[in-house]
Amino acid sequence: MADIEKAPRFDKGERGSRGGGNGRFRRTRRRVCRFCVDKTDYIDYKDVKHLSNYITERGKILPRRISGNCAKHQRSLTEAIKKARIVALLPHTSD
Ligand SMILES: [Zn+2]
Repeated sequence: MADIEKAPRFDKGERGSRGGGNGRFRRTRRRVCRFCVDKTDYIDYKDVKHLSNYITERGKILPRRISGNCAKHQRSLTEAIKKARIVALLPHTSD
């Protein structure tokens, strides 16, 4: 008489507690150009605080798709940053 106990062990713990979610990234994408919102016509190159929002840590200018600027303002922003570089308000790109 040998009762074979068939008791498969199901470890039913909490699984999938990590990395859950539907993979839905909620991205704050603002397609609106900030300068257009502020109705800025001229971007001051001396406004370093403002300009530094649009450059990377390395001093590179953010591309338009990231900054979300419109073509017109991206252009004047680039000009402003370049000017700011010349007068050494902003760093040049450094590797
Ligand atoms: Zn704009």
